[in-house]
Amino acid sequence: MRTVLITGASRGIGAQTARLFAQNDYRVIINYNQSEKAAKELFNELKATKSEIYIIKADVSKTNEVTSMFADITHQFGGVDILVNNAGIAQTKLFTDITDEDWDSMIATNLSSAFYCCRAALPYMIKNHCGRIINLSSMWGQVGGSCEVHYSAAKAGIIGLTKALAMEEGLSGITVNCVAPGVIKTDMTSNLSKNDFKALSEETPTGTIGTPEDIARTILFLADEKSSFITGQVIGVNGGFVV
Ligand code: NAP
Repeated sequence: MRTVLITGASRGIGAQTARLFAQNDYRVIINYNQSEKAAKELFNELKATKSEIYIIKADVSKTNEVTSMFADITHQFGGVDILVNNAGIAQTKLFTDITDEDWDSMIATNLSSAFYCCRAALPYMIKNHCGRIINLSSMWGQVGGSCEVHYSAAKAGIIGLTKALAMEEGLSGITVNCVAPGVIKTDMTSNLSKNDFKALSEETPTGTIGTPEDIARTILFLADEKSSFITGQVIGVNGGFVV
């Protein structure tokens, strides 16, 4: 059974990704930070599947917590075959209102977390000459989002990390890709009103807003052993909003 770690799997895209991997017979490690109740509910829900499910609390924006999480994982399973760097936060602010704290927390949670987790996951993957890393970027990391400069910078950083690491690990049998979602209905977009969603869907060629399932299916596809010739790519899942 292949082991997948999904960071930030207590809610939204991460939780739906955990569900899909569990339904497809992976051993699933659910990472969460603040939403313990939601993570435990998901754990109980997924225990009903044939898969093995584990749950680990760690703030992935902190290097020491990622080190402890991987020490635990290494002890129990040797390592992870698939790493999904999904944990993230968003914030809407005028650029001139962004504080040092806002900037640091955005970069730590959305970008440094992927660095810490990739670095910790790679030795096991390199030893096995096999691995899949899937990072969550955003269409705003591709084209830039007004009033989300720090978020866009972190998500553009994810694209750079993905491409460079894919180059470095190609001969090690490890693929590194990122998924760049468009507007997806989760807690992260709960600040948007009904009218905002209507306007956004009208601007989208498919005329729809995305679901966590749309993203989870793409992640599952990239994680497949047979997806070995896809690496260093940015897969846009955005209804054509950004092409
Ligand atoms: P969400 O519903 O707000 O969920 C965010 C998840 O990240 C939660 O499970 C949260 O866990 C976790 N998280 C946040 N900080 C963490 C930390 N320091 N350590 C560990 N976990 C942490 O967001 P989402 O919409 O599912 O987004 C998932 C990913 O997709 C993010 O990287 C986001 O930037 C990206 N994305 C989303 C959209 C969208 O429209 N929704 C679009 C483009 C990209 P706790 O609650 O347990 O702390």
